[in-house]
Amino acid sequence: MPLACLKEVLDSAISEKYAVGAFNTFNEDFTDAIISAAEETRSPVIVNFSETQLEYVDLQCLAQVVKLKAERSNVPVVLNLDHGLTFETVERSVEYGFTSIMFDGSGLSFDQNVERTAKVVELCNPLGISVEAELGAVGGDEGGALTADTDPSLYTDPSQAAEFVETTGIDALAVAIGNAHGKYRGQPVLDFDRLSELRDAVPVPLVLHGGSGISDDDFRTAISLGIAKINFLTGMLLGAIEETSLAIENCGEKYNDYLDVLARVKKRVSSIVAERMNVFGSSGRA
Ligand SMILES: [Zn+2]
Repeated sequence: MPLACLKEVLDSAISEKYAVGAFNTFNEDFTDAIISAAEETRSPVIVNFSETQLEYVDLQCLAQVVKLKAERSNVPVVLNLDHGLTFETVERSVEYGFTSIMFDGSGLSFDQNVERTAKVVELCNPLGISVEAELGAVGGDEGGALTADTDPSLYTDPSQAAEFVETTGIDALAVAIGNAHGKYRGQPVLDFDRLSELRDAVPVPLVLHGGSGISDDDFRTAISLGIAKINFLTGMLLGAIEETSLAIENCGEKYNDYLDVLARVKKRVSSIVAERMNVFGSSGRA
């Protein structure tokens, strides 16, 4: 089916109390791994591509790959720009057919974040493209460092969040409640009281970034308190690295062994994604 838009996918998640996973792709194999996991579990899915990884891909080609695989699939697939940092990449993503844009102004002042996010909404809204934005700052490093720290002073403030959503007109809000990108040091502690306050203060679906390392129970609690989209990346890449080294150890002397390595990694990534879909409760909803 054609690419789905974020809003329709998240509306069902909110009303039926599950979360849709957003999994990052970089190439055909990762796209395949994600969409086949969605088909296997009958889940709606969000395929993410993060601007922070732009140096590794040809964005236009990647968008075509995702679109084609979504069209061949019978589950809803959203194509989302993850952590859009520049207006230029937002515009290119719109041109290439992304159906959802996450603009990350979390490093800016409140006023600048409002101003730039509103500009993205102004571009996307008339085209039916959803916009997610972030307020407060999710901990850790989006560039892949394995040290995910959080700073309570940067957690999302509920009354500021209400003003932010109202002023910008966004469709979904990424919140900072003790979640972090990368690999957590120890077990993350999520601020569920703050999440409840945010849920009451804000009328749009809430998004949890930094999903790798959060326990299954904490995911379920977060979903029951209004999280409808969960971003998951680190766990896929760490699994891919581990599987690559295991597969290389078993390489023989045939040059086609390399293709077996790629196939094995793709299968591993797909099983990691499918497992998350079961925990997020999106399985069987497509
Ligand atoms: Zn993120």
